[in-house]
Amino acid sequence: MPEKVIVAREIPEAGLRPLEAFDVTVLSERPPGREALMEAARGAGGLLTTVTEKVDAGVLDAAGEGLKVVANMAVGYDNVDVEAATGRGVVVTNTPGVLDETTADVAFMLLLAAARRLGEGERLVRAGEWEAWGPKMLTGPDVWGKRLGIVGFGGIGQAVARRARGFGMQVAYTARSPKEDAEHEVGARHLELDDLLRQSDFVSLHTPLTEETRHLIGARELDLMPETAVLVNTSRGPIVDEAALADALSERRIFAAGLDVYEEEPRVYPKLLGLENVVLAPHIGSASIETRDKMAGMAAENVRAVLSGEPAQNPVNL
Ligand code: NAP
Repeated sequence: MPEKVIVAREIPEAGLRPLEAFDVTVLSERPPGREALMEAARGAGGLLTTVTEKVDAGVLDAAGEGLKVVANMAVGYDNVDVEAATGRGVVVTNTPGVLDETTADVAFMLLLAAARRLGEGERLVRAGEWEAWGPKMLTGPDVWGKRLGIVGFGGIGQAVARRARGFGMQVAYTARSPKEDAEHEVGARHLELDDLLRQSDFVSLHTPLTEETRHLIGARELDLMPETAVLVNTSRGPIVDEAALADALSERRIFAAGLDVYEEEPRVYPKLLGLENVVLAPHIGSASIETRDKMAGMAAENVRAVLSGEPAQNPVNL
């Protein structure tokens, strides 16, 4: 009997090909919900999940002792209880590297859109309220030549830094350990977080969500930023205290923000929805056709490897 594999969401075809030898069930286009995931997972050897599935001890236990691998179709894996998986001998994998450039594009898109007020402009045009070119209409800060602070200088943070170079920006970064090669490559300098916030015109967040980074940016940190500053978050929602951000934006203590991720997706903090100076994207950082194919193929290949007795290519535990 081929081993049972549950694919939690409809994924690109590239993610189903490596699994042809297995008994695969694809659950749904929309998030399946906890009960349906647990029910379907019973007796599975592999689970292919996405950021919308919370894979905790309950889900792992529902799958049972035959579960060998949880392959998350994302680089972030804060939705998976890795400790619980490790304790049960289950390999957890992610999809690093293949989405760096694509996600950096969205970070830069949000940075530009927030600074140059694209969302406000679009709403004006669509509402039929644009009357004429205006000397003071929808002006925002220049991006080119400004100071960019990158919080978390891994694959995506460094890809953002490369884009910033093309805009003649001065780049600073913070990470847990120095990145000398990358500093050299993009001419970035290391700063402690508080100094980076004080000295940057734009701040872009690229750390994983961990207990250390939850609410890394709160009221105190937002107050360190200049009033002209723009904050971009394409990492994970809970890294920013959304209530504090909404207050800072509405009181114009920072100029604008661009967000791709939220504390309780798909819910957006209500006050943010009413603000003009925030650009809101629906978690589309990695959503290019090519990159989603690669992510799906990579996740599936990790499932195939583990269920075939081979080492996983992208394990985050075992
Ligand atoms: P990565 O290569 O692992 O880089 C993460 C960086 O964060 C590293 O430089 C790391 O520093 C730094 N870091 C970790 N903890 C930190 C802390 N407490 N303070 C300061 N820096 C810290 O990850 P990545 O591939 O660039 O992805 C980053 C995150 O982006 C992912 O975890 C994911 O949640 C998110 N993401 C979102 C989307 C989207 O659709 N919006 C798409 C892809 C990824 P060290 O190297 O020194 O440890």
